[in-house]
Amino acid sequence: MGIRAGSSEPRTDDLVLALDFGGTKLAAAIVDLGQEKIVSPVVRQQTPVSEGASGTLKAMIACGQQALAAFEQPERIKAVGISFGGPVSNDRKRVLLSNHVSNWDGVPLVDEISQAFQLPAVMDNDGNVAALGEWWFGGHRLMDNLAYIQISTGVGGGFILNRQLYRGSGLAGEPGHYIVDVNGPLCSCGRHGCLESVCSGWAIARQGREALLKGSGSCPTLIRLSQNKPEAVNAAMVFEACRALDPDCVAIVQSALSNLAFMVVNLITCLDPQVAVLGGGLTRSRDIFEKYFMSVLVEQMHPFFKERCRIEFSALNGNELLLGAALLTQVQA
Ligand SMILES: [Zn+2]
Repeated sequence: MGIRAGSSEPRTDDLVLALDFGGTKLAAAIVDLGQEKIVSPVVRQQTPVSEGASGTLKAMIACGQQALAAFEQPERIKAVGISFGGPVSNDRKRVLLSNHVSNWDGVPLVDEISQAFQLPAVMDNDGNVAALGEWWFGGHRLMDNLAYIQISTGVGGGFILNRQLYRGSGLAGEPGHYIVDVNGPLCSCGRHGCLESVCSGWAIARQGREALLKGSGSCPTLIRLSQNKPEAVNAAMVFEACRALDPDCVAIVQSALSNLAFMVVNLITCLDPQVAVLGGGLTRSRDIFEKYFMSVLVEQMHPFFKERCRIEFSALNGNELLLGAALLTQVQA
């Protein structure tokens, strides 16, 4: 597998409809691979979780049609690139599962999208798609080896090794399910103590709720931000309460981000990439990541790797999935 055209350059004339099926948000836009940018409005909406896979698919098709309608020459679109927030089949035609939306199991999403837009379509999971986007559009395309870690609602990742997306036998790139504490909380995969169960949007929100319910009074800022309603707590509130030095929230963030740092250190030791890029919504709280993640990472990094591997945060402002999905149409299977 490699980027088409032998020269390692994507074809310069292609316009692609890119679709991003996230656990909490859907997004659609048109990407000009020659200009290397999004050339339509980005149409976004909340994922209609309660409507299951069929409602989500319908909503995404409407988002895609809206992006096409806003583009002057929709007839120039050559293909559709799909990022899916969950594992996909080895042939990347079907969804295996979504942890956030029901009834996705086995859905032939590539055929459904291809039929809906009357265009060829390709798909991959969001970790691989974002890794591809970061590598090519994030200023790293001269590098042969890149590890990408995404920290948002869940934790995902993808690896570019020897200038190719590494898929293993199909499911490689699931750093969210590295076990960091075998006695830890229950994970969405059914096991205990995966990284995602302590350091992800949902895990940090869950721990904030638990702190509130404990009623120890060690999280006054979180109580104020959530109006003392556990169900209202989200990860952004826990970060804010951590900044205000609520003891419970500092402890949650410290534990979550040091576990993330241990995983990244281990990943670097295994893969020896030239760069490790962190992206996803949570990483945009850069002050929190500098203080509680980078400090641990620098301390724990194996001395051999300190000089070899750069650690960077995504500079693509959350567009790595749409850009990567578009580029997927240029990647040979
Ligand atoms: Zn897990």
